[in-house]
Amino acid sequence: MSGPANLFVAPGRVNLMGDHTDYNEGFVLPMAIDRECTVRVSRATTAGVRAVSGRVPGEVRVPVDGGAHPGSVEPAWGRFVAGVLKVLSAGRAVLPPVDLEVSSTVPAGSGLSSSSALSVALTLALGHAAGLEFAPLDTARIALAAEVAASGVPGGLMDQLASLFGVADHALLIDCRTNEITPIELSPSIAVVVVHSGLPRTLAGSEYAARRGECEAVAARLGLASLRDATAKQVADEPRARHVVSENARVLATADALSFGDLSVLGPLLNASHASLRDDYGVSTPELDLLVEMLVDAGAAGARLTGAGFGGCVVALVQRNHADDVVAKVTRRYADATGLSPDAFVAHAVDGAHQLR
Ligand code: ADP
Ligand code: MG
Repeated sequence: MSGPANLFVAPGRVNLMGDHTDYNEGFVLPMAIDRECTVRVSRATTAGVRAVSGRVPGEVRVPVDGGAHPGSVEPAWGRFVAGVLKVLSAGRAVLPPVDLEVSSTVPAGSGLSSSSALSVALTLALGHAAGLEFAPLDTARIALAAEVAASGVPGGLMDQLASLFGVADHALLIDCRTNEITPIELSPSIAVVVVHSGLPRTLAGSEYAARRGECEAVAARLGLASLRDATAKQVADEPRARHVVSENARVLATADALSFGDLSVLGPLLNASHASLRDDYGVSTPELDLLVEMLVDAGAAGARLTGAGFGGCVVALVQRNHADDVVAKVTRRYADATGLSPDAFVAHAVDGAHQLR
């Protein structure tokens, strides 16, 4: 039997520009989207934490004191629950036994950060159960630490910040060195189109860690704290670092052009970002390349893979009155060409994670 419930909701995000820059202390430009994870938390009469998800059969049971080793929890999504409990208990939080019910409209493994929507919503829910209210930046840090403990992937803070600091109708320019966040108003004349390739992200964990290591090695060789401080000249012969440096410049240029709705500037920036992620950073796939090509061909101003790559989604900027047409064309052509089922939709920027009253 459960006590009264509290609901916490955290959105996924789409990154308009700036991938693989966050862990190099660079710039990113995500927006929180109208796909979200909801966690319902209530006091339990049985011991421990019990968690169920509408998406995965079975139930997660872990001790409430953070004693479970996240990496060994089954079903595997329970590692996020154990991760949050571990981080909270390391901060001396004391929790009562609780029941958690998770539901989500963020597709998993797609580059829209279903994992961060989940970890942020869990952090808010379990923090609330412990009688704690964190500043949003602390919530982001706890959720990231929990995700790293759960997945072993050394991610940056972009996804959690986007989920927490989202502003309706705005993208967020984030300086990942200072965590300074500047909302950038989205012109109503522009639609953000997201297309899921129908293939989950693969290799993302190991390749992600490898790329991160390569970046850190170049920075160390140049005597820099991070690639944020590198110049284009310094990295001219280093493809991985070249991507990071050129991508940082594209984020700032995109933020500038976005509020004016200047698609003639934005389109080429997106296309250049995709080429850089494909050729210099080596994180695209034939399906993502095909989708980008088809989107531009169907009338998008520009398109790029979004998130870590290796599968998942692409994002395109499209004149709003053409958006439905582009979505319909790309869905049909991509399905015909690949036999895969793409999921294409117009994403709307929403406010960040909060408690539902
Ligand atoms: P992404 O964050 O791009 O969606 P990840 O591989 O980082 O991809 O995260 C996906 C993982 O997050 C899933 O395998 C699962 O463990 C967890 N997850 C996300 N949403 C849910 C959900 N609604 N219920 C249970 N687990 C979820
Ligand atoms: Mg993720």
